[in-house]
Amino acid sequence: MGRKQGFLIIFLIFLFIPLNCYAQNGDVLCTSEHFILKAFPGSPSDAIPSSKEAQEFCNFYERVIEELRGKFGGELKGKITVVFGGKQAQGTGGRTVAEVYSSKLPLYNFGTHEIFHVALEDLLGPPPPLLLTIRPAPPFWSPLGLEELACTVFELHFWERSPQLHLYARVYQELNNWPSLETILSQEAKFTFQEMEFPLESFITYLLENYPPSCFKALWQYKADLALSPTLNLQKAIQQAYGKPLAKLEEEWRSSLEKISVESDWYKTVSFHRESQLLLATISSQITAQAEPIKIQLDSLTQLNEALKPIAKIWNSAPYGILVQPLKDFSTLEENLVRAKELSKKAEKAIQLLQVVQRNLGSQNWNEAYGNFYELRGSLIALGEQSLLPWVDKNLEELKGKVPPELVRSLEERGFPWWGWVLIGCGIAGVLGLGGWLFLRRRRIHKKEKG
Ligand SMILES: [Zn+2]
Repeated sequence: MGRKQGFLIIFLIFLFIPLNCYAQNGDVLCTSEHFILKAFPGSPSDAIPSSKEAQEFCNFYERVIEELRGKFGGELKGKITVVFGGKQAQGTGGRTVAEVYSSKLPLYNFGTHEIFHVALEDLLGPPPPLLLTIRPAPPFWSPLGLEELACTVFELHFWERSPQLHLYARVYQELNNWPSLETILSQEAKFTFQEMEFPLESFITYLLENYPPSCFKALWQYKADLALSPTLNLQKAIQQAYGKPLAKLEEEWRSSLEKISVESDWYKTVSFHRESQLLLATISSQITAQAEPIKIQLDSLTQLNEALKPIAKIWNSAPYGILVQPLKDFSTLEENLVRAKELSKKAEKAIQLLQVVQRNLGSQNWNEAYGNFYELRGSLIALGEQSLLPWVDKNLEELKGKVPPELVRSLEERGFPWWGWVLIGCGIAGVLGLGGWLFLRRRRIHKKEKG
């Protein structure tokens, strides 16, 4: 894992906390045939399900296992321990999974995803290295590998709350001018994770809905030939499991999507979803790309968070942002998106400046450093970013002694705008804006610990 994952990084660090500690120390909330639910010691009470809810979760998980066993046969290899409320938001290690619960989030959001990692491996065997070349993020994990897609697809299936996955996939496909899976696997087409996830999940769902579970089982159990390219492996795996070429199955799936009628409200809703996701992806990747040690964090861009808050609220109201009904009124949301776009441009500038000033300091280029620090200070204030201001001011103060007084004077004469302080005041209120949304995005991160 490189330190390149930006807002994901904090979360990934938690993944190194051995999950066994979670399993050994928690208070038991509920036990059933295949599950032990535990609360991580010392967790805030709103991160722990009540005993009544825990019992409901156990019942739900048992239904999930029963249906999976009905589909694929086999038996779990032991109980699965599910821990709620630890610092590790989500992850899988051996037979212990950390799942999410928050009394502040809608109930569909209680963790299920990680359970599928353990259950599918028990019932079907080790996951196949298929689709892994699509955006391999950190080396050990691909958000779009077959295993991850399948866990999400099963999660959506069992929640029974997201009937519109195929509709979302259809509109995303249309807006992206979706090429063939072969093109995507060969990485000739450059799509973001956000642009690919719904169509790929829809394709896996199509296979599960239209072919017997034995085909999916055969796909999962495909023995990859390392001498072949990822594309050839997928083609071979599909041919063996489904008795048809990949291109043929893809054509079937795409023509089934074309039959979905998409009313204009839906089209607008999904387009808006895509646009807001892409904005978040752009800003996240800029945050991620910061190379110098001092970095801007997404959570501290309070003005941007404030602008995105109403949008995040909409997408947080449904699993993976897949709404049951289309949005009707876009006017305020669109205003917010326009403002968020402006602010993300400003944030991009501030991120660049922050990188430049650190290089200036490294090369002892004091004059340039002073000018850039001065500009950075203004950008940070406009963004409501306060955590770096003391560091910026300290550097400005120190640099004052190293640069010609006329440089200091010429910059100071431009003055600091009064509205900057107003923005700082407004910014404090918005700190929590993106938290929930990103929280949902983070849920995909997953790592299996050895042993
Ligand atoms: Zn996962």
